[in-house]
Amino acid sequence: ARIIAGIPQDRLERIATREARRFAQSRPRAAAALAQGAGAFLNGVPMHWMADWPMPHLPLVAEAKGARLTDIDGYGIDDFCLGDTGSMFGHSPEPVARAIRKQARRGLTYMLPTEAALEAGRLLTETFGPFRWQIATTATDANRFALRVARAVTGRPKVLVFNGCYHGTVDDTMVELVQGRTVNRAGLVGQVQDLTKGAVACEFNDLAGVEKALARGDVAAILTEPVMTNSCMVLPAPDFHAGLRALATKHGALLIIDETHTISSGHGGYSRVHGLQPDMFVVGKCVAGGMPTAVWGMTEAVADRFNAYDATRAPGHSGMGTTLSANPMQFACLAATLAEVMTPENHARMEAGAERLARGLAAAIERHGAPWHVVRVGARVEFICAPGPLHNGTEAQAAHQPAVEAAIHTALLNRGCLIAPFHNMMLVSPATRKRQIDRLIAAFDEILTEFFP
Ligand code: PMP
Repeated sequence: ARIIAGIPQDRLERIATREARRFAQSRPRAAAALAQGAGAFLNGVPMHWMADWPMPHLPLVAEAKGARLTDIDGYGIDDFCLGDTGSMFGHSPEPVARAIRKQARRGLTYMLPTEAALEAGRLLTETFGPFRWQIATTATDANRFALRVARAVTGRPKVLVFNGCYHGTVDDTMVELVQGRTVNRAGLVGQVQDLTKGAVACEFNDLAGVEKALARGDVAAILTEPVMTNSCMVLPAPDFHAGLRALATKHGALLIIDETHTISSGHGGYSRVHGLQPDMFVVGKCVAGGMPTAVWGMTEAVADRFNAYDATRAPGHSGMGTTLSANPMQFACLAATLAEVMTPENHARMEAGAERLARGLAAAIERHGAPWHVVRVGARVEFICAPGPLHNGTEAQAAHQPAVEAAIHTALLNRGCLIAPFHNMMLVSPATRKRQIDRLIAAFDEILTEFFP
């Protein structure tokens, strides 16, 4: 029989089928509601990637608070997905909920700032460093705008990204390496442009490859996460970030650090915790406690270059904007999150919980002799169904085991635990209780007992 991630295929299929059936039997209300009401949506889902969850059908959420979801079939679910980072500080943190209630009485959007905007700006600098900030609504947009500025000030066309990266639905970054060549990603919908004119892909942790790409003189910016979190998690080699910084400076490219996921690293994100020195900084998702908000900033030196460029720019649309961005609700939530939620104390709690989780999962893997491993970046933990450590996107792609992961995700949900879909990422919020962590470890252990009897 074929062996997948150490598991005979027939055993895997038997367990997956049983877990799928168990899920379907346990959610009659969700099934009935979907049968009645989902038809209005394309393929029955309001966002196409929701169709990629592995369960036979979706559960419908009734409510969420802290690190717990309740679905309409009455199940309480320990939430380690946390909106794939949007709710990393817990669902509806009280200071944010309070800020929403207060702002709801004062208008939702008006194209003008508030006093809370000024407070948010001050807190952004205090938290992340002295960047010149702009507000967007999604991290996708923040990355797009940062790239625009990088190209404008350098006059160069390309962004250097790492094979296997994800920075949102930014077409410019949607390239991959195939046999050493940068090509458009195969799955991209409706893209007719040759993206390689504006992008070059390198392998993460390959400074020699980066230097070779930069030496051509056409790279405006390196755009990277500090840790690759969007394939199976890949940590940077000890000298990688110092090397990137030095190479960017040497070759006149800007360094853009996307902290949208690695904000899990601790207060101020990975950059602050590990002393990175980006020219531009991006963070989204959880930065306003779950209210759609992203921020991006540039150093004063880049701001000066941008202003010089801007002074000579022809009048007309800049390509940076979106009408509902920088609205008063965002500022209220941003200020509340930065002041009261994204605190060093909360980060410390999250880290301690994540450490407990990572140890528990690693111990289960070892006990069952699974050829798997666990990686952690602050409050973010991932189990990977392959041996580690992984060094780059190509290795991460090869480590990905969709059939195994799908079976585990459904089995975990049947045991009351939700983890992020598509890979095996788990987040620990300040609201996550020890007993929730221990339940997840126990559920994981139970599943491994069946995989590796
Ligand atoms: N940057 C990174 C590192 C991300 O992981 C993501 C989303 N997973 C984004 C940007 C895009 O965020 P959004 O979907 O909120 O635009």
